[in-house]
Amino acid sequence: EASESLNFLEHIIAEDLKSGLSKDDLRFRFPPEPNGYLHIGHAASICLNFGLGEDHQSPVNLRFDDTNPIKEEQEFVDSIKNDIEWLGFKWAQECYTSDYFQQLYDWAIELIKNGKAYVDGQSPELIAEQKGTPTSPGKPSPHRDRPTEENLEIFEKMKNGEYPAGSYVLRAKIDMASPNMLMRDPLMYRIVNRAHHRTGTDWCIYPMYDWAHGQSDYIEQVSHSLCTLEFKSHRELYDWFLDQIYDENKLRPKQREFARRNLSYTVMSKRKLLELVQTKTVAGWDDPRMPTISGLRRRGYTPESIRKFSEISGISKRDSVTDVSLLEYAIREDLNKRATRAMAVIDPVKLVITNYPEGKTEMLEAENNPEMENSGSHEVPFSRELYIEKEDFKEEAGSKYFRLTIGKEVRLKNAYIIKGESVVKDEKGNITEIHCTADLESRSGSGTEASMRKVKGTLHWVSIQHAIKAEIREYDRLFLDEAPDAHGEKSFMEFLNPESLKITKEAYLEPFLQEAKLEDKFQFQRVGYFTLDKDATAEYLIFNKTVGLKDSWAK
Ligand code: ATP
Ligand code: MG
Ligand code: MG
Repeated sequence: EASESLNFLEHIIAEDLKSGLSKDDLRFRFPPEPNGYLHIGHAASICLNFGLGEDHQSPVNLRFDDTNPIKEEQEFVDSIKNDIEWLGFKWAQECYTSDYFQQLYDWAIELIKNGKAYVDGQSPELIAEQKGTPTSPGKPSPHRDRPTEENLEIFEKMKNGEYPAGSYVLRAKIDMASPNMLMRDPLMYRIVNRAHHRTGTDWCIYPMYDWAHGQSDYIEQVSHSLCTLEFKSHRELYDWFLDQIYDENKLRPKQREFARRNLSYTVMSKRKLLELVQTKTVAGWDDPRMPTISGLRRRGYTPESIRKFSEISGISKRDSVTDVSLLEYAIREDLNKRATRAMAVIDPVKLVITNYPEGKTEMLEAENNPEMENSGSHEVPFSRELYIEKEDFKEEAGSKYFRLTIGKEVRLKNAYIIKGESVVKDEKGNITEIHCTADLESRSGSGTEASMRKVKGTLHWVSIQHAIKAEIREYDRLFLDEAPDAHGEKSFMEFLNPESLKITKEAYLEPFLQEAKLEDKFQFQRVGYFTLDKDATAEYLIFNKTVGLKDSWAK
C-alpha cells in the first residue's frame, strides 16, 4: 500500500507521528551556507525538505547557515532565494544563524559555568595532535581544567576583539577518549576578525557548525533536521549539545542523514564550482554548462524537470552517482510536452526551387505543438530560395538515406514535396546551391491527393529572404571523465572537455522566433530543444541548446 512507496525518512516521520509526535509539531528546514550558488545536489535537499512540508502541510524554514564571514556574501543569499522560488517552493520563515549569535553566546556562557566548556590557547596543530587516533585515546589539553572565572573572562575578551585570530578557541569539554573523534573536546568558537555580511563587525568570534546547527534547529523548533551522510558521526555531538540546553517542554529536534546526490560528468562541491568561476573556465555561476540551478535554468531546464529528476532519482541511504542522462531524460520529457515547434537551420546550404515563382511569398501554417491540445499554430513564410542543413543533402546516397539526394523526393516540413535536380559548386568543389523542383500540388494541409503522398524523409528549412540570423550555443559535458574529482592527486581541472561549448554565429531562424522571450521553450525541429539566452537582444538573438531530441550518448 501507500507506505511502501515512502522513502526511509518518510518512514521515520511516520513512526514518530505514531509514537506521539503531533502533526502540528512537524517542521523542516533547508540550511544552505551562502558561500556559493545552489547546485543540482542542493535541489535534492530542497525537494526533500519542501516536499515533506507540502506532504504534511508543515512549515519549512529557509535558514542561512552564515557562520563563516570569510566565505559568505549577500550575492549568494540573493541567488539562493531566487533559485528556491524559481523551483516553486515557499519557505515559512527566512532565518539566519547569525540572528542567533547572541543566544548561542549566552548558551556558551552557561556551558562554561556548568564546567562543560573551556578556553584553549594552544595552536590548532597542537590541539589536533592531542586528539590522538581513533584507536588510541587523546591527551587532555593542559587548559582543560582552567577555572570557570578565568574561562569567562578570556571568552568575553575573545568576543570583544581583544585577541588576534587563532589565539584562542572555546572547546566543549566532553571526552578525550571517545571512540568518536568529534567528541574529543570539539571546538565551539573561533576568533575571526572579518566583517560579516549581516552582523558587520559586531562579532569577533564565530560559532562552529556543530555548535550552531542543532541549537538553531532547536530555536526554530525544527522537528526533523535532515542532512547528508557525512554528518552521521556528528549526530552524537548534535545530541550532546542539545542535552546541555534542552527544555523538556519544548520539542527536541532530531538529526537524520541521507546520501548526497552526485551526478556523473560534473563536480558539485561549491569550492570546485567557485574554482571554475574564478579561473574563468566558465562564464559565471550561471554558465549553462554548470550543474547549478541558475546554470540549468539558463540552459533551458524547467523547474518541473528538476523536481521530476529529484523524484525519479529518489532519496537514498547510501552514496551513489546518478547518471546525468537521467537529468537529460527528465528535461526532454518535459520539453516534449511544453516546447513550441519552430524551424532553424544551424549549418545552412542554399536550396532553390526552380519551378516556384520568383518574388512570391506564401504564408504556411505550422502547428505549435502536436503533443499539446489547443496549442495553436503560427505562420511560416515560404519562398523560392531556402536554407536547409548541409547534412540533409548528399548528391548520391544509398537506399537507406532518407534525406535529399539528386532524383529523390523528400517533404519540406509544413510545405511541399521537392525533388533534387542538380547542384552548383564553387571552384573548390563545394556545393553552393541545390536546385530542386517542387510538386506544387503537394502543400501540407491543402487536402489535395498530392498532399497526402507519403515520402520517406521530412526536412526543416527557412526562407532565406525572411530568416533571422542568430547565434546558437551548443553545449557538451564540461568534463570528459565520469567522475572528474575522484582521481586523488590529479585535479578535476585536468579532465575538462575542451569542446564543451560550440558557438555558431550564422544560424538562420524562421521569423516567428523574433518574438521569443526569456524562458520560452522551443523545439527546433529535428535539431533539439532551445531557449533564448539572457545575453540576447532584439537585434542579436542568441539561443542555447538545452538538450538534443535523443540521448546521443546512449550506446
Ligand atoms: P558543498 O559541498 O557543495 O559546498 P554543502 O553541504 O557544504 O555543499 P550547504 O550549503 O551546507 O552545502 O548545503 C545546504 C544543504 O544542502 C545541506 O543540508 C546539505 O546537506 C544539502 N546538500 C548539499 N549538497 C548536497 C548534495 N549533493 N546532495 C544532497 N544534499 C546536499
Ligand atoms: Mg560547504
Ligand atoms: Mg554545509
